[in-house]
Amino acid sequence: MSADPAAPSAARSLRETAGPLPLGQIRPRGWLERQLRLQAEGITGQLPEIWPDVGPDSGWLGGDGESWERGPYYLDGLLPLAHVLGDETLLARARPWIEWMLASQVPPGEDGAGSFGPRGDQDWWPRMVAAKVLAQHAEATHDERVVPFLLRWCEHLRTHLPQRPLSGWGEVRGADLALTVAWLHDRTGEDWLVDLLELVLSQTFDWNEYLTTELITGPARFFEHRTHGVNVAMGLKTGAVASRLGRSPEAVETHRERTEAAFAALERWHGQAHGWFAADEWLGGREAVAGIETCLVVEMMYTQEVLARMFGDAVQGDRLESLAFNLLPASSDPRMLAHQYHQQGTQIEVSVAHRDWSCSSDGANMFGLEPHFGCCTANLHQGWPKFAASLWARDADGGLRAVAYAPAVVDTEAGPDGAPAPVRIEVETDYPFEETVRLTVAAGHDGADGPSRFPLRLRLPQWCTDAELTLDGQELEIRDRGDGHHEIVRDWAGTSTLELRLPMRARITRRERQAAAVHLGPLVMVASPGETWRGVPGAPGLGEWEIRPRTNWNWALAEVEQAGSWPVQRGEVPEAPFALGRATVLHAMGCEVPQWRRDGASAASPPLSPVKDHLPVHGLDLVPYGTARLRVMEFPVAMARTEG
Ligand SMILES: [Zn+2]
Repeated sequence: MSADPAAPSAARSLRETAGPLPLGQIRPRGWLERQLRLQAEGITGQLPEIWPDVGPDSGWLGGDGESWERGPYYLDGLLPLAHVLGDETLLARARPWIEWMLASQVPPGEDGAGSFGPRGDQDWWPRMVAAKVLAQHAEATHDERVVPFLLRWCEHLRTHLPQRPLSGWGEVRGADLALTVAWLHDRTGEDWLVDLLELVLSQTFDWNEYLTTELITGPARFFEHRTHGVNVAMGLKTGAVASRLGRSPEAVETHRERTEAAFAALERWHGQAHGWFAADEWLGGREAVAGIETCLVVEMMYTQEVLARMFGDAVQGDRLESLAFNLLPASSDPRMLAHQYHQQGTQIEVSVAHRDWSCSSDGANMFGLEPHFGCCTANLHQGWPKFAASLWARDADGGLRAVAYAPAVVDTEAGPDGAPAPVRIEVETDYPFEETVRLTVAAGHDGADGPSRFPLRLRLPQWCTDAELTLDGQELEIRDRGDGHHEIVRDWAGTSTLELRLPMRARITRRERQAAAVHLGPLVMVASPGETWRGVPGAPGLGEWEIRPRTNWNWALAEVEQAGSWPVQRGEVPEAPFALGRATVLHAMGCEVPQWRRDGASAASPPLSPVKDHLPVHGLDLVPYGTARLRVMEFPVAMARTEG
């Protein structure tokens, strides 16, 4: 690839961006490994035995069962989970699916040559997911069959897309297909793939245009693809993928700015206190009791992982952490046996009851095998493993970049293309349950023939204004290189130790009615009314639960102007990392507001703040959102007794 994007020879090339590290090079440790093990032993490991849609009758295994998206969805999580854990049982479980897909391709000369997958369903969309799975498989195993297979499929697309364009789910999710085409181009350099990429994008809904000019300004009440929350989450990567065609820095910057404008518009009309847009199936407005589908959470994480690599700015990592540490863990029970279809930001009860969803059924916020609808049952598996696999990225210049912080060991190569050197980075931390991230970098060629020079880039979270960094005990002056990262370029030799401290102090954000929400570092902090879990007798799968509060929940915050000095107490991260516990407790101040009542099974809108009629102020402990399956996220604020 030409180094000069403006050079004529670059006309058929794609802009170089950061790439993911090959699957398997980042291994989770500490709490992240425990979380992934829970997933492996829980829902992901057991799903084929308890849910026929990904069982032996799946059309994606040659059976006559479900033949659309559910098989590929499941594999899109099972496969990376197997590789990040290096788990032989899960690898063996994934293998027959991969072999069946590879063997299913229509041979040359036959009608539909190059197509693959169940013959009974010719929708492009599930194949787009399956192709993503095969690319990951190739990254992890170097299976040499995958690139020729995908080339044949892309030739099929080139022939057939003009007559049978992307439509329905495929049209709004075309960015995922474009990513695979770009992946294939990166490995083959075939010029015609750039034409195909342009064709795919020309058939893909222009999300940034819609989100910045026509976005619905309140809850959507009827189905259309463009207000469908999962589609929005997936569509937000479209501009970033298109930026690979960017022939100039200005063109790339335009895509980045339009994507940021789309985020801002979503925040304006549908933003929740945790930073994400509500969509209880369709975009749901700003009230804290609106639902968010689990598919939205995991697809938005994948989009963030792509944005972090394509645009390279640190805010993408902030957003990824916000999903991974708050909404993702909240979507499942702590042991990952069951999930919700919809989570509510403020969720005072998990039960079968009417809630003000746009269309979902009364059981949509139960924890179970298939609450409301089975898409999330099939799709949730990608969340944690892809997060683990995306903690670090390799920039186009061979530098290594910390996208998000969590305990892991990275065994990879760094440095310029011609002379990469092996590097091992151990990340030891309980972050986000602690403030310090310790990195041990062991670099240099095998046989110790000299140091290796490459940039190491550490993300500086936007919420942190006073980060501290030491290298082998020496304090370094932190400098933002302009994209939110601190860069260290040096000859790495032997073992170096970096310690990054990210002080966390409670931050208040204001909401409608002057309500308030509390943040601590990347965590959203909520009040927990305690939880009584009741298993539903005879439930399918690994169980189904409703949850009732143990105390009242109608609290206001008080003395919020002192929030920055509210004490934080840290304890051990439990075996199930996102179980309700004492790993991080923020000692806030609050009081009961008796007039704040329920509205059916949800909390009513918080009363107007400041609230004058409240009971005496006392300490109010807040815990991380991701650990509290019942919670108050958005609080009224108490008027001080001396005011008025
Ligand atoms: Zn879903």
